Amino acid sequence: MVRIIAGSCAIENETQALVLAEKLKVRGITEMRAALFKPRTSPNDFQGIGYDGLPILREIQNMGLKTVTEVVGVRQIEKLYDYVDVFQIGARNMQNFELLKEVGSTNKPIILKRGFANTVYELLMAAEYIKQSGNKDITLCERGIRSFDDVTRNVLDIGAIIYLKQNTDYEVIADPSHSMGNRNFVRSAAKAAIAAGADGIIVEVHEEPDKALSDSKQTIGLETFDKVLEDLWKK
Ligand code: PEP
Ligand code: MN
Repeated sequence: MVRIIAGSCAIENETQALVLAEKLKVRGITEMRAALFKPRTSPNDFQGIGYDGLPILREIQNMGLKTVTEVVGVRQIEKLYDYVDVFQIGARNMQNFELLKEVGSTNKPIILKRGFANTVYELLMAAEYIKQSGNKDITLCERGIRSFDDVTRNVLDIGAIIYLKQNTDYEVIADPSHSMGNRNFVRSAAKAAIAAGADGIIVEVHEEPDKALSDSKQTIGLETFDKVLEDLWKK
């Protein structure tokens, strides 16, 4: 079955997160995006609710969903550890080697996102850092790379997915949200990634996407999400 990790860009507050968690759960989703710290380009943009959100992660877990949470610094690992089921390493930290070694010393599954200016070789070497620290439970995520064109936020590198699936044993997922940057493109990008061989997607979903505190433009609502589920799970 195609792996589908879904949820808002960030956890915004308890009600937003738990209402969404319930909507995801009834749809059969088992893993929720549950970010507390957001690495934003501008320090003036919403940064996430931080450790105040730990009890919310626990409630999500208690509902039977796994929390997929980005860790942006070495010191966070210990504090997040009990509340997080899957550690996400974001694009901006793909080559933060100390962070890779530290998450590599845990026994939690890891999603390693490709940096937007990194080659596939560099992605594989970043994964190698994690592996050599002892953790082999690694999923690679193609989330789009920078190019000269701006019709999409980044360029979803379908070729990288094909290459990784043909040449490595890693599970590979795609992020149709951060790559496309436009909610109208997410459904097609998700389908394309799966057609290219990806094992799953991580996608931004919000009950009221226009009101999302971060990445609103690329966040899909539940109606579109249902279509994505139909496409990918062929219900
Ligand atoms: C995210 O998935 O929350 C995110 C910040 O994406 P990326 O690291 O790919 O930019
Ligand atoms: Mn986001």
